[in-house]
Amino acid sequence: MPPLSLTTPVAAIPGVRAAEAFALRDMGLPSVAHLVQHLPHRHEFEQAEAPVLDLGAGNVISTRGEVTATRIVTRGSRPRFEAVLLDHTGRLDLVWFNQTFLKNTIHPGVRLRVQGKAKRYHAGLQLTNPKYQVIKDDHPEPARAEARLRPVYPATAELPSERIEGIIASILNEALPLINDHLPVAFLKDRDMPTLADAYRMMHAPEGEEQTRHARRRLAYDELLLLQLGVHLRREHLRRQHRAPMLRWTTAIDERIRKRLPFTLTAAQDRVIRELAPDLTKATPANRLIQGEVGSGKTVIALYAMLMAAAEGHQAALMAPTEVLAEQHFASISRLLEGSRVSIELLTGSLAPDEHRAALGRIASGKASIVIGTHALISDAVAFDSLAVAIIDEQHRFGVHQRATLRAKASEPDSVPHTVVMTATPIPRTVSLTIFGDLDVSTLDALPPGRKPIRTRLVDPATLPEVDAYARTRIEKGEQVFYVVPAVGPGVGAPEFEQFSEARASASGTPDSEVPIANVAATLRRLTEGALAGLRVEPVHAQMRRADRDRAMSRFRAGEVHAIVATTVIEVGVDVPNATLMVIEQAERFGLAQLHQLRGRVGRGTKGGVCVLVADTTSPTAEKRLKSVAGTTDGFALAEVDFELRGPGNIFSSRQSGLPPFRVAELPRDTELLLLARRDAQSWVARSPDLADPGETLLRSRLMKTYGKSLGLGDVA
Ligand code: ADP
Ligand code: MG
Repeated sequence: MPPLSLTTPVAAIPGVRAAEAFALRDMGLPSVAHLVQHLPHRHEFEQAEAPVLDLGAGNVISTRGEVTATRIVTRGSRPRFEAVLLDHTGRLDLVWFNQTFLKNTIHPGVRLRVQGKAKRYHAGLQLTNPKYQVIKDDHPEPARAEARLRPVYPATAELPSERIEGIIASILNEALPLINDHLPVAFLKDRDMPTLADAYRMMHAPEGEEQTRHARRRLAYDELLLLQLGVHLRREHLRRQHRAPMLRWTTAIDERIRKRLPFTLTAAQDRVIRELAPDLTKATPANRLIQGEVGSGKTVIALYAMLMAAAEGHQAALMAPTEVLAEQHFASISRLLEGSRVSIELLTGSLAPDEHRAALGRIASGKASIVIGTHALISDAVAFDSLAVAIIDEQHRFGVHQRATLRAKASEPDSVPHTVVMTATPIPRTVSLTIFGDLDVSTLDALPPGRKPIRTRLVDPATLPEVDAYARTRIEKGEQVFYVVPAVGPGVGAPEFEQFSEARASASGTPDSEVPIANVAATLRRLTEGALAGLRVEPVHAQMRRADRDRAMSRFRAGEVHAIVATTVIEVGVDVPNATLMVIEQAERFGLAQLHQLRGRVGRGTKGGVCVLVADTTSPTAEKRLKSVAGTTDGFALAEVDFELRGPGNIFSSRQSGLPPFRVAELPRDTELLLLARRDAQSWVARSPDLADPGETLLRSRLMKTYGKSLGLGDVA
């Protein structure tokens, strides 16, 4: 038998049958190394074997005794085999479902060892489907089970956790010494962390709970450290390798830009500009995240930066997540720049081919100073003459990839534009530190003057008629109303957005089909035949022709339409100051951040806005989520709640962020560990920006393997 190595295929492990090797490979565990890294998702405490009298409910227990009675019960949906076990201290009831054949093995007089999770049943104690071993008279008495913490592994029907446990246990002693640590012993010691081999041992075969915590801490830290190292290496690399055009920021330029604006900048806007503008004067590419509530005036900041580029004869690009938003940016920026020499260009996927070609020409020649667009901006066909500033609006919809691609649009090989990322969805700090850990952050923490905060009410579906009547009174006062529903029509199954899955599963166990999804068609009918009869109510949704949708929106903006019934297409960008009421039906079906975004569409003027969330809050989570939306207008606080309830996976799915998911680390639970990893990564990168030390070879190769592709580290190390 050749000695085990980390690359030994599972089929070559002594005792592993061919079928089991297949099952392991199916689970993504083809080799010894994979097995070592296959971590239990929890541990179960097994009590030492004890007499029946000493057993307690809740734990995994084992005991032995004599069977005194058995029976088969066929009443009920599942036939079961029951047995009574006695020892010198008391009685234990045993039940096996669907295993009536056990009558052939277990009968009165047989001595059994059993193990399982005990629960109280009437006055006594019961084990359901326990593991059992018949103790034969002529055999030596089996040893008593010691107390232990038993790993419970992600498993399959073919390969249950116990079997995986057995296989891993059989290789562990041989495999662990083969594992090299990518972190120095002294470094680990300073942080009170075990070596990698010890951490794996303590996960697979812990001597106590303290050990599993200790091991988990090391493994979670590893993941966080690797990501932080990747992010900071990339940042350092960008700073060292690339140059961005150095823009000028003079009093004259500042005054010229401000003269363009129809209002004075708020103190918050001024501060953010003072943070951002100096970045743009440096050759080191800026990389800044600007976060601010809906309506806090981020567009102006973008415009300011873009005009700094234009002032120097360079170009700037603004990328928006949807066409509607790109068009709105284009319209409002065109309005602001009316009469100026700065030429602006709109580039979206729906331009006619010849328009598209002409636009590309103006972008490539540098004739277009400011280019506003959607994803179309990062297609290969787009080449800039001299891109100095790249702005990405609503960052949460874009991943790291897109940011890098837009940045790569600079014309000269080592030149990259300054990058500014804007988001209205406040990013929980822990998330911004991980995925966007390489960004500087500016926060617009105040709304423009005269804004009244939006009031949000949470009401029961039964209240809908009153809500509709209230909408009429607002309209009669000359104001306008949005209705937002999750779907377009009853037959149009798929809603336009990714539904909040918990909400869908909730409604206290009511299957989806029983509660029809509120939809544009139904709400439109209800309103035009009821409370809003005689008023102008129009639909807006993604399945309408673009031209029709735009026409409806511009009539709404012009005040010719009283109410809009829409899906989430109005989520971003729409700016109608006279719209003061938003009614969101079946609000439980929307994500929290989404609700916050939606309500930001009302109260954009000086009248103050009201948002009514009509929702079924039978599920406690739904209730908690919606109450937190109703209870605060602070998007940052909401982001934290959302994050806690949904986890980071939903806010930044790994598909969206382009990053592999963590296996052990969990946010926000591991925030402290994250902060430690971040500090460590920063000083590591400052000390050794190429990870070129011989002692860092392993760390570097693990880093490249995990994040090389997704973080684009290929040219870093
Ligand atoms: P968001 O941060 O959501 O992108 P916008 O940039 O769209 O917000 O700004 C929201 C509204 O506030 C716009 O109508 C904009 O013209 C207006 N606005 C922005 N800054 C100011 C300001 N300093 N004073 C008054 N109105 C402002
Ligand atoms: Mg905006």
